[in-house]
Amino acid sequence: MNFDYDLFVIGGGSGGVRAARVAAGEAGAKVALAEESRYGGTCVIRGCVPKKLMVFASEYAGVADEAGRYGWDVTRGVFDWAAFSKRLNGELDRLEGVYRRLLDGSGVKMFDSRATLRDAHTVALDNGDVVTAKHILVATGGHPVRPDLPNANLGIVSDDIFHLAALPKSILIIGGGYIACEFACILQGLGVDVTVYYRGAQILRGFDDEARGLIADAMCERGIKLHTGTNILDMCPADQAAEAGQGAGPDVLRAAGQSTHQTKASTGSNQGPVWVKSTTGHETVFDQVLFATGRKANTAGLGLEDLGVKLGRGGQIEVDSYSQTAVPSIYAIGDVTDRVNLTPVAIREGMAFVETVFKGNPTPVDHDLIPSAVFTQPEMGTVGLSEEAAREREEIEVYSTSFRPMQSAFIDKPDRVLMKLIVSKATRKVLGCHIVAPGAGEMIQMAGIAIKMGATKEDFDRTVAVHPTMSEELVTMRKPVRTA
Ligand code: NDP
Repeated sequence: MNFDYDLFVIGGGSGGVRAARVAAGEAGAKVALAEESRYGGTCVIRGCVPKKLMVFASEYAGVADEAGRYGWDVTRGVFDWAAFSKRLNGELDRLEGVYRRLLDGSGVKMFDSRATLRDAHTVALDNGDVVTAKHILVATGGHPVRPDLPNANLGIVSDDIFHLAALPKSILIIGGGYIACEFACILQGLGVDVTVYYRGAQILRGFDDEARGLIADAMCERGIKLHTGTNILDMCPADQAAEAGQGAGPDVLRAAGQSTHQTKASTGSNQGPVWVKSTTGHETVFDQVLFATGRKANTAGLGLEDLGVKLGRGGQIEVDSYSQTAVPSIYAIGDVTDRVNLTPVAIREGMAFVETVFKGNPTPVDHDLIPSAVFTQPEMGTVGLSEEAAREREEIEVYSTSFRPMQSAFIDKPDRVLMKLIVSKATRKVLGCHIVAPGAGEMIQMAGIAIKMGATKEDFDRTVAVHPTMSEELVTMRKPVRTA
């Protein structure tokens, strides 16, 4: 059978674009790609890239204060959101252009249109085109979800942050995962009064407990009001609450930064001050509420289930280790499969797909020992097993130290850092490394190489320290703090 294309990719995010480019550019396949929104996807347009630029922006507040204590004559001014936001959007436009040019340069045909599946080899586009392909790759990513709560649409989600016309004076963030913690630190750094409600006992569930504890302490130290064991129970516009007699009583707090000015998001999703009742009974009025309560795969309305593609309970596409779905001509990569939802993993999955399908080299995706970072302040870098997960599996030694780094100690800043290794008693292999420190994301990339190579504690020990650094502790910890 003749097809219009060898490969049709649905979704122009990091994974889809890489797979399309490599299949066309390196494997000589005839490739088309459809994207209904902006090229670059979550990472470039509404995730990692703008978030990291906001992290940089927020860190300068502290830098200015600290420089004074280091002897510089610095006067801290105010943060100009409008100026930053203009520059940010310019950068995102530039990056989107780069993505388009890369696809074009590889000979990939682009459709700026939503695509849905008609059958195992046919794609229908919103512009009316219908095309066929030997293989179809679904790389449609995910989207943030709000909890099932009346008036939840009064709150914004992470996508909306980058489009705010002005920063709110106060914000309530719901959730305790990556996005909640990162934005709590960013917004607090930019001068917003931040409150976090997390339903569990400690933020960043799934990460090493000591690392989570240190980050929670640092967040509180910086002035973030972190309420664990707390969730949102009810919300409505503050003026409605006042009319109904709620929000007017003496028990109702206005979050400290609350002002009379209203901040409008260009998405229209925030509509002025919001009255919130917590599960612990507190009533508070916030300028804005951000739901950072997880993400869901973009599979609705694609026609996948009708074709026999299996979806999991969360709507994610089920695939095998080669990213193949239950329909042999259809593959899926990235967040839409909800395996490990990180940009570099989606890219790896895209490359492995091309190796398998277009280069005759079946390549399963290796999801083991993936280093990652949470861009809180301080950052967390992590690879491998947490202490809690490791001790469930085997006998371990724990090497851990928490201290004030010299840069902070010199100016009496309370910030502490953590360097931690989890070591197998039987094999001596380092099973996990957890770093909480400024620059931990950069450090863990290097530690990740050693650990992926199977480094033992003794390999770490015979590596000479780089002095004076924070990470030298990783090669100088001689005695375990505990065994388990
Ligand atoms: P996460 O799944 O990490 O966190 C969701 C948070 O919301 C959890 O704390 C969860 O609580 C809480 N939650 C879920 N449902 C509700 C509810 N109904 N009411 C109250 N709280 C609720 O999702 P994120 O949105 O933070 O991030 C999504 C993914 O994006 C991450 O898992 C990660 O893969 C990726 N990401 C990676 C980044 C990085 O690499 N630096 C940065 C940002 C995102 P509980 O713990 O109890 O389930």
